[in-house]
Amino acid sequence: MEKIVAYSKCSCGAITIYFVDGYSNSMRPSTKKKLGIDLRKYKRLDNSYYCNHCVNHYGIDLCECGSGKAVGKCECGSNKSLETFGEKYDSFAKMLENFG
Ligand SMILES: [Zn+2]
Ligand SMILES: [Zn+2]
Repeated sequence: MEKIVAYSKCSCGAITIYFVDGYSNSMRPSTKKKLGIDLRKYKRLDNSYYCNHCVNHYGIDLCECGSGKAVGKCECGSNKSLETFGEKYDSFAKMLENFG
């Protein structure tokens, strides 16, 4: 299993999962369920009022274009998510990619 250390819930309803290497993935509860992650064995952090999911539109279930729409349901036509579960989202590399 991915090296999860903790998780927190946001007022927007999204869950953010933190990994040992210091990065995190945000997702809707339904996505967490789909992945079959059991968070009960991990540490629950205090609820947050904002997260990457609602502020930056980063999430493993959000479109890669950053619109904040669900993957595959975005006007841009992409089927890719912005983040991959268990992988660090490198916004700087992404920026360079978009730039080139
Ligand atoms: Zn949020
Ligand atoms: Zn999109």
